[in-house]
Amino acid sequence: ATPTSIMVGTGRAAELGVLFRKGDALQMLQETGVVALDKTGTLTAGHPELTDIIVRDGLEENDVLRMVAAVEQNSEHPIAKAIVQAAEERDISLPKPESFNSLTGFGVSAVVQGRDVLVGADRLMERENISLEQLSVEGTVLATRGKTPLYVALDGEIAAVIAVADPIKQTTPNAIKALHALGLKVVMITGDNQKTADAIAKELGIDSVVAEVLPDGKVRALEDLRKHAPGKLAFVGDGINDAPALAAADVGIAIGTGTDVAIEAADVVLMAGDLNGVVNAFHISQQTMRNIR
Ligand code: ADP
Ligand code: MG
Repeated sequence: ATPTSIMVGTGRAAELGVLFRKGDALQMLQETGVVALDKTGTLTAGHPELTDIIVRDGLEENDVLRMVAAVEQNSEHPIAKAIVQAAEERDISLPKPESFNSLTGFGVSAVVQGRDVLVGADRLMERENISLEQLSVEGTVLATRGKTPLYVALDGEIAAVIAVADPIKQTTPNAIKALHALGLKVVMITGDNQKTADAIAKELGIDSVVAEVLPDGKVRALEDLRKHAPGKLAFVGDGINDAPALAAADVGIAIGTGTDVAIEAADVVLMAGDLNGVVNAFHISQQTMRNIR
């Protein structure tokens, strides 16, 4: 590529809100065969809402929600915000937890009014040797509908399964189609439940899924993909925990509405908060490189 054509290409990209922080990213995109995308905040809005609460016999929905929201008051996770908001909407007043632990990639725990409360993924309950009993069936049903099931244990016994759902961004389905039309393989990488991720991927026509990835595991997931990927590998993400993967990918593309850490680690930054910018970046790359030959 000549310096002039690269300049023209990056200039045209900037007009479309696609900022190339490195000139060679234009060439790298042209050679890319696989695009891996973070789910939460990239494919989806990143603002989940509580959709279901299923409690064990003898328990009251609002009592369980009170305990869970009390714990989640101390968490920054979007899931926590959804749960606290649901409690507020029901006018449930929240006690202050006596202790709090964030179990990154698994969930949260606390003591509330003298009771041990544990909230998180099925793998958290497994780790704590808490049997899911009949609620695992309910949780699986929720997950196959694309919702994220969170299990709740009170004093070491399973009490409820709660679901949150994060809406898919309006622009995502067409952007995935456009990436396919460019001949790219599209992969989702997420810390979310496998069945939830599979359901969302199926809805979007995404080719493959790497789910239940721990926060520090996205780079390893990318390295695994790279072994089998034709051509270069691009990664699109928005969050703090996407930063290492954005740096490790051949082309790291950050959603501009994401966190500063992600933006700083990326080769390409999208000014808008949706995936159309990814499609534009590929189009401009192809046009630029075609003109050179
Ligand atoms: P992601 O960014 O894909 O949600 P995380 O590593 O942040 O990945 O979370 C992985 C899983 O851990 C979540 O899907 C959820 O099951 C559980 N989890 C994380 N934080 C919380 C929380 N504050 N409350 C309940 N569950 C949580
Ligand atoms: Mg994200």
